[in-house]
Amino acid sequence: MKIIISLDYEVFFFKPSSDIKQSLIAPTERFLEILSKTQSKSVFFVDAGYLFALKRQKNKFDKLDKDYAAIVAQLQHIEMQGHEIALHIHPHWEDSYYDGYRWKMKLNRYKLADFTKVEAEEIFKKYYRELQSILVHQIVSYRAGGWCIEPFDYIKDVMKEAGIYIDSTVYQDGYAKTATHNYDFRKYPKKEFWRFSSSPAIEDKDGCFFEIAFTSQRFHPVLYWKVLFNTLLKRIKKEGNGQGVKPSFKEVLKKLFTINTEPVSIDAFKSQLLLKAFKKAEIKDKKYFCVIGHPKCFSEDTYKNLEQFLAYAKQPGHTIATFSKLITADREPQQQTSIVY
Ligand SMILES: [Zn+2]
Repeated sequence: MKIIISLDYEVFFFKPSSDIKQSLIAPTERFLEILSKTQSKSVFFVDAGYLFALKRQKNKFDKLDKDYAAIVAQLQHIEMQGHEIALHIHPHWEDSYYDGYRWKMKLNRYKLADFTKVEAEEIFKKYYRELQSILVHQIVSYRAGGWCIEPFDYIKDVMKEAGIYIDSTVYQDGYAKTATHNYDFRKYPKKEFWRFSSSPAIEDKDGCFFEIAFTSQRFHPVLYWKVLFNTLLKRIKKEGNGQGVKPSFKEVLKKLFTINTEPVSIDAFKSQLLLKAFKKAEIKDKKYFCVIGHPKCFSEDTYKNLEQFLAYAKQPGHTIATFSKLITADREPQQQTSIVY
């Protein structure tokens, strides 16, 4: 199986004064150490809007100057180790700013769909240039912030111009319609990998873009009840700084009373299901196993379960690699045997 461990390298929304060393740099460092033990490579989807926002204000604030330098240094180190750096876009940074004490996060325009097509194109180009300027390798992969990939038409042309041909945003049966999020993958191809041209919703065998979907799994409400119980008892010890956009009461209820489909994840408690999900994929003879993680959400569970998973997955027949390596192998089948890591 082709295994992709992808991280969304981004900061937390609701504790804007938090220390990035603790919420981003340190958990990423620990993740890298674990991966290096098995020489496994990963894909880092960098929230380039954050980089841009830091750069925009770093001359005014010493803290931002230090944060920017620490992040750039870590990303360059990650790239040098052979991991892939990819583009992740959260356009709410357009309206967010640092006031000298904390980040003032504005989420009114959370996804590219909240802008006009021209604005979305400009944001994409600006964030892409920002990230590409600190890297050696060409960026080839993209992930939409908050799963909000549509309308893909907004970014199709600029993505092509930038030479980005892989998208990894879709997860089977995923959907959400909230104040900030809007996506519905229930009618997308029920596949792990397909080509497309106008939208990942429609397969086009000759399309110039590739979609690598996340491996989805069904989360039983019992898991969320356990988390709720543990949270109430303050038993969950988090290393990172929590989660993304806070779910509404309605969304929390949905998780507590219905079975939810979500991507397989290495975040905190969700990492308990990682190995189980992989074994299930093995039985189903899946070709790809694509998982997500957020350094800001890592806990001791993450590190323990990741190590266990890597030890298991490190067998002949499985390859843990980056998108660029795997897709190159799929585009040029004659090279497949030589491509590992
Ligand atoms: Zn994100």
